[in-house]
Amino acid sequence: MDRVRIKTMPTFDDRSGGFPRGLELLHDPGLNKGTAFTAAEREALGLQGLLPPRISTQQQQVDHVIYNVRRKPNPLEKYLYLIGLQDRNEQLFYKALVDHLEELSPLVYTPTVGLACQEYSHLYRRPRGITLTRYDRGRIKEALLNWPHRNVRVIVVTDGERILGLGDLGSNGMGIPVGKLSLYTACAGIDPAACLPVMIDVGTNNNELWSDPQYIGLPEPRLEGEEYDTLIDEFMEAAGDVFPRVMIQLEDFGNRNAFRLLDRYRDRYCMFDDDIQGTAGVTLAGLYSALRIIKGKITEQRIVFLGAGEAALGIGNLVASAMIRQGLAEEEALGRCWFVDSKGLIVAGREDLNLHKRRFAHDFPFHRTLAEVVEAVRPTTLIGASGQPAAFGPEILEAMARLNERPIIFALSNPTSRAECTAEDAYRHTQGRAVFAGGSPFPKVEMNGQTFVPGQANNVYIFPGVGLGVMASDATRVTDEMFAAAAKCLDEQVSKDDLEQGRIFPSLARIRDVSAAIALAVAKVAFAGKLTAMKEPSNLPGYIKSLMYDPVYSSYVPVKKHG
Ligand code: NAD
Repeated sequence: MDRVRIKTMPTFDDRSGGFPRGLELLHDPGLNKGTAFTAAEREALGLQGLLPPRISTQQQQVDHVIYNVRRKPNPLEKYLYLIGLQDRNEQLFYKALVDHLEELSPLVYTPTVGLACQEYSHLYRRPRGITLTRYDRGRIKEALLNWPHRNVRVIVVTDGERILGLGDLGSNGMGIPVGKLSLYTACAGIDPAACLPVMIDVGTNNNELWSDPQYIGLPEPRLEGEEYDTLIDEFMEAAGDVFPRVMIQLEDFGNRNAFRLLDRYRDRYCMFDDDIQGTAGVTLAGLYSALRIIKGKITEQRIVFLGAGEAALGIGNLVASAMIRQGLAEEEALGRCWFVDSKGLIVAGREDLNLHKRRFAHDFPFHRTLAEVVEAVRPTTLIGASGQPAAFGPEILEAMARLNERPIIFALSNPTSRAECTAEDAYRHTQGRAVFAGGSPFPKVEMNGQTFVPGQANNVYIFPGVGLGVMASDATRVTDEMFAAAAKCLDEQVSKDDLEQGRIFPSLARIRDVSAAIALAVAKVAFAGKLTAMKEPSNLPGYIKSLMYDPVYSSYVPVKKHG
């Protein structure tokens, strides 16, 4: 069977005909080992004289990378250094990322990637991934065929309309697919050669970009309506044709397109939307773990969401189906989820609701403010995904503490400056009784001699494992059931020890094991649901591990036997 490259740095023997030599080898980021080429490799591969004489181990190189990262004066410089390394020596980049994930992932991804996207045109050095525009219409397949790798298994694609909480960044949003795919490789071992970042530049309505002479994207208004749909349709079809086993992740599309595209494609392609489904998976997992701390049941929660966009509605749908699986009738489950959008509480009497919101519109008096809603609905759990900083003020948090012995408070909006409240606020205004998670990382909080460890509902706990599970099972669809299984599995990865410290997500240091466990749970859903033509391997966990790219150098020349 055709498989992705599996821990397969080819050996000299494998590629004696075509293995690159000399400078060509040093300029191949997938194979380059820099100063770590051994004497035998330097001899056999035409490298004499091309490298400094002192030979390093990969560990010494990783230490050197970390030393350099720490010396850089600010996060953007650190980001640029790391991207430069990725362009020169992929194995070293990923080894450093895997070994120092807690330190480096905020540089490679949020929050630094947000800054990098804002400056993307000015910092632009070399291409990474594929960019498509309306001028490629009718020829998108040709463009995808220009990509050098045929066995692409994961595409992350954006149209740059809603980059993190930063809005429309047009072509500058390419930093997001690039960063997300680095996390697929670091966290779940998806081979970098199987990952393809894609930007569909449909224009931008951010006029500041039009007037920037250095802007790398199309300085024209965003495509809309049929023209937009035809372009995305052609991309989806071409991607499936050129890379028949690919899974496509939609990322940072604007609200009005994200739900529409998910509805349009979910039953036709192997695809999902991370902002809707990935967020839902990680938040449901956090909720399960929080309920273990407070010894509550999901079917007994009343949840108020501030925000009714991609993140909040995605979570609401997944939580409601979890409640249904645990015995509630659909109406009862939906009745436990309440939404407040920019206009107020979502109730049946409102006439401005789209279908996705209408599902959660209850026969109930309208209330304009969150404070009124909290008093009227008496939630056990408050989840913020509104992008409204400080929306969970003291009054709201104190009310949650009055209504509940242990209120659950998730302030998911990113970046940190947009969070509905800080971890410290959540603990302070509930006398330390809240179980808290943020969308961004928050430092530990010391209060009255107690230490509180805030959780981070980071999608990185979910999407890499889901991708690995889909790849391992050759699933042809990505289903909500897979995200439900991933959430349950992620909760199971949180130990009693973690919970005792108030941690509701596992340490990022364990992410590769966590992703492998999630992949197993997801693959089982695929096999049980017949979402694949593949026969289940007899040792599925072992098979999944065998697929994981390990960025440890291997020898490119036959090792001489001594004695
Ligand atoms: P979105 O634009 O789809 O939704 C935003 C929602 O907030 C809309 O329903 C809007 O009506 C509502 N809103 C705006 N102002 C409001 C107000 N004053 N009061 C109440 N509601 C208001 O965006 P999204 O994709 O759902 O993302 C929302 C936030 O969640 C962003 O800050 C994003 O960074 C964050 N997010 C976090 C995670 C995570 O923690 N893992 C994942 C995805 C998104």
